[in-house]
Amino acid sequence: MKQLSLEVLRELESMVTPSEFTKIRSQIKLNEQQSNSEFIIYNVSNEFMAKFFHTVYSEKIASIFEKKTQIKPTIIFTSKQGKIQQIIPNKKIQSSILIPSYIFDNFVVGESNKMAFLCSQKVATNPGEEYNPLFLYGGSGLGKTHLLQSIGNYAIQRDKTVICVTSEQFVNDFTTHYRASNLDKFQEKYRNCDFLLIDDIQFLGKTETIQESFFHTFNELKLKNKQIVMTSDKAPKYLTGFEERMKARFESGLMVDIAPPDLNTKIQIIKQKSEMNKINIDKDIVEYIAINMGNNIREIESAINKINAFSSLMRIDITIDIAKTILQDNIKCNKRDADIEDIVEFVARELNIKVNDIKNITIRNREVVNARKITIYLCNKQPGISVATMVSFFGFKDHSAISHNIKKINQNIEENEYLKIRIKELESKILKKERM
Ligand code: ADP
Ligand code: MG
Repeated sequence: MKQLSLEVLRELESMVTPSEFTKIRSQIKLNEQQSNSEFIIYNVSNEFMAKFFHTVYSEKIASIFEKKTQIKPTIIFTSKQGKIQQIIPNKKIQSSILIPSYIFDNFVVGESNKMAFLCSQKVATNPGEEYNPLFLYGGSGLGKTHLLQSIGNYAIQRDKTVICVTSEQFVNDFTTHYRASNLDKFQEKYRNCDFLLIDDIQFLGKTETIQESFFHTFNELKLKNKQIVMTSDKAPKYLTGFEERMKARFESGLMVDIAPPDLNTKIQIIKQKSEMNKINIDKDIVEYIAINMGNNIREIESAINKINAFSSLMRIDITIDIAKTILQDNIKCNKRDADIEDIVEFVARELNIKVNDIKNITIRNREVVNARKITIYLCNKQPGISVATMVSFFGFKDHSAISHNIKKINQNIEENEYLKIRIKELESKILKKERM
């Protein structure tokens, strides 16, 4: 295995820059005892590095292995030396890999994800009871997979049988069994678990036979009071390609949406991620990231990773100016004013207010202020629009105006049922526009 891995790395050398290669060679170490032809495990120094290597190199490395051995292995980078047996599928964890670092303990809870968090904990501790199925939905990078995996990790610790798969893995598994005329085995496997956790269910809608199979699996598990949890990027009613009876099943338990995190939650998440990985990031840099990046936490993590990698490679402390330079690209790829412009126009049309009045913050009559608040609320729900972009778009003095507006509108929504419904309606119209 060691020889093979060396050969693979040698081939990788021709695909990356020399400095990248030096970094790879010095940072990753093959875990010989635990690796086999299907699972290749590399130890790295911390979980950030693990994620970094996973994102950038795992696919490349797996493909080179495949070329050499005809088997495409799963490549795992991990800093957890002692817990490796948890990563490799055993009889309890079937079909999939639970990522050990996705646990409830390191999930930062704020207003936007509190419900999702509490419900996930509830089903992990009392499976098959009240919330079955639990359907978690929301935009990309908001923590759905983290919560789903936390449920799985919690359950396997208590000796439950957990199947945790993406819908893509489910489809592949189905196809493999189908081709081998072995569907009985497939059914037996999926119908005999305590937890069936399916990530990104939105992709399951494509094929009828698979939906059919899933439908029956679902019904049987539900009948046996086994817990089903699904995640999706949208609410069941907006899923495409699914039969109505399927959507009705999804809606029959509890649906919870995860909203983008507010500024304070983002700050907490950034702090936690840097503490976890023993990186010291100054308070002003933490705020800079929180304010300037959008709401996708995956992108925020990659910004922290970049700072971390830079600081450890260059052996320097990061100042706010250096951070700004390092993160230039990350922050540039944030959505621009054009997206806010779209939302302003949309709100203006819907509420019959002039576009320029919404944009002009010196105009303070009630209707206009209201429309502006709604615009800010809707912009804030867009993972790609950062607080800083909104501040500069409207010409506010600083970000506190945005937080203030959002706090106010949330209060208004709590108090006013009509407003609540109206906003939900606007949100779903925006969602429909995006899908077109
Ligand atoms: P999704 O599945 O919704 O696209 P993920 O669960 O993959 O998002 O989350 C993206 C990244 O952000 C993960 O690394 C996850 O650990 C992290 N993350 C998301 N929400 C939180 C949170 N509330 N606290 C800590 N980390 C979070
Ligand atoms: Mg996910």
